[in-house]
Amino acid sequence: MTSSDPRPADAATRAVHAGRADLRRLGVHAPPLDLSTTYPFESLADAVGSLDAMMAGDDPTEAGGPVYSRLHAPTVARVEAALAALEGTEAAVAFASGMAAITAALLAARTADKTHVVGVRPIYGTTDRLLSSGLLGLDVTWTDAHGVAAALRPDTALVVVETPVNPTLEIVDLADVVAQAGGPDGGVPVMVDSTFATPVLQQPARHGVAMVMHSATKALGGHGDVLAGVVAGSAAWAARLRSVRILTGAVLHPLAAYLLHRGLPTLPLRVQRMQKTATALAARLAADARIGRVYHPSLVPDHPLVGPGRQMSGPGTMLSFEVLGADGTADTPAAFNAAGAFLGALRLATPAVSLGSTDTLAQHPAGLTQRVATSGGAVTAGLIRLSVGLEHPDDLWADLDAALAAASGEQGAASGG
Ligand SMILES: *Cc1c(COP(=O)(O)O)cnc(C)c1O
Repeated sequence: MTSSDPRPADAATRAVHAGRADLRRLGVHAPPLDLSTTYPFESLADAVGSLDAMMAGDDPTEAGGPVYSRLHAPTVARVEAALAALEGTEAAVAFASGMAAITAALLAARTADKTHVVGVRPIYGTTDRLLSSGLLGLDVTWTDAHGVAAALRPDTALVVVETPVNPTLEIVDLADVVAQAGGPDGGVPVMVDSTFATPVLQQPARHGVAMVMHSATKALGGHGDVLAGVVAGSAAWAARLRSVRILTGAVLHPLAAYLLHRGLPTLPLRVQRMQKTATALAARLAADARIGRVYHPSLVPDHPLVGPGRQMSGPGTMLSFEVLGADGTADTPAAFNAAGAFLGALRLATPAVSLGSTDTLAQHPAGLTQRVATSGGAVTAGLIRLSVGLEHPDDLWADLDAALAAASGEQGAASGG
């Protein structure tokens, strides 16, 4: 299926047809959902052939069938083909969650004599924690996007970076990180967490990134009902990732894979619409006196990495802004309280962590997602992160406006009483 899948140039067309090339031959219109855990074999020789194929990193369906679903699951393989087509890579490997995907990438890169990782901060809080914890037996050097070359060692197995950065939406220059790591051929491999960008806005493999990771729980799944992760890359990396997945068992359930695949045809439409609304809201927030800093790449004039033909084709669907406390500052207990009151007063946007869902999600990094990270940086007490959804921009603005009014009203009442 992977090889026979056509890859039209336009991403919107690929999103609709990827992973579905064989459906007409099968005589069905929706992808089949196969929940089997084990598979009958025609002959022992077939089963042995299957196992040999899997050990070589090949698709066992050409040989004697999947054998056992921890080894190979056809519904999962189908969405993997679709994700590889969107990312523009030879292959993709799906996992039970984004964290399972990151763990597998680290283990796939690690060898007996290469146990050092360069981590570029800031990075997703749990990734930061995983790397800092020593749980995987990896030695980590933390640096920023400009310090990668200096942090390399002879035993460096992988460079781990994330862009756009959470929750301040800075963009890391991936071509530069790959160059610092020694280039795409022969250098230290680079893995990027590309969750915030989605393959609609950024295809890191084009810039020499070896492994492109997503928490597919977010915009790829897109409807708040799938926990999943994926790593896209070359066939050689995919073979190593699959063997880690077989050994550690962090497989994606076929029903989750089915739901993930079901959401992909609308991914480009969703991302474009959310991005347009995020850009409009960022402009309104930036002009509002009740707000401190606003973070969205659209607010950086002529961003060198954002725009048609650049690393990110657009500014993205995520934005952050500071609710100010009664004292007019963004990093005091007053600002923390104002941010809490703001979240409590939202009627349309959902106060919740996660991102990329059809509805707008609002969360408080200082109180929630950044708590697990070891470095705070620009995360102030009043900072709110918004994952912009598909609601009408005017309705969303009315919700934000009313919640801001309520937050300052409560403060006024509190300080008056
Ligand atoms: C959510 C998220 C993860 C972790 O993914 P899970 O699916 O929750 O395991 C990793 N990186 C980023 C940027 C995320 O937003």
